[in-house]
Amino acid sequence: MKNHNGDIMKIHVINYQFDNLYNKLYDSDWLEAELIMIISKRKIKINLEFLIIEELERIYFWLIQILNKNYADSKLEFIDPNLKFKIMTRSKIPVLKIIYYMNDTKIECWELIINTANINSLANKINKIIINYPCRCGKTHNIN
Ligand SMILES: [Zn+2]
Repeated sequence: MKNHNGDIMKIHVINYQFDNLYNKLYDSDWLEAELIMIISKRKIKINLEFLIIEELERIYFWLIQILNKNYADSKLEFIDPNLKFKIMTRSKIPVLKIIYYMNDTKIECWELIINTANINSLANKINKIIINYPCRCGKTHNIN
């Protein structure tokens, strides 16, 4: 996904972490994935350790809530991967900020102006991954 600066953010899923593993909580839904960002022509590739399908669903539903303007939380945080989605205002323009914490002092982030077209497009990209990598754990995910 490209933003107004031409900076790119992509969650690239390579495969399930375990090929034919079904009905195991977490492990069946564990994805091998990377976060790719191109910020001011600098390419950053981060291995998203411990990304599971449920987290992508959380991101998707949170984006849909932003579209419907009924979101309760301006933040969506994960611990593993060390990722945060945050809504903030920059020069009175609402932006969605995606922050990855490399360590205690170093972060990488990407911003997207919040409007229907942008959020729709990002939500569709996340949904495509969810469709390509369906839940295999056999349990109902607790998204909310
Ligand atoms: Zn599942």
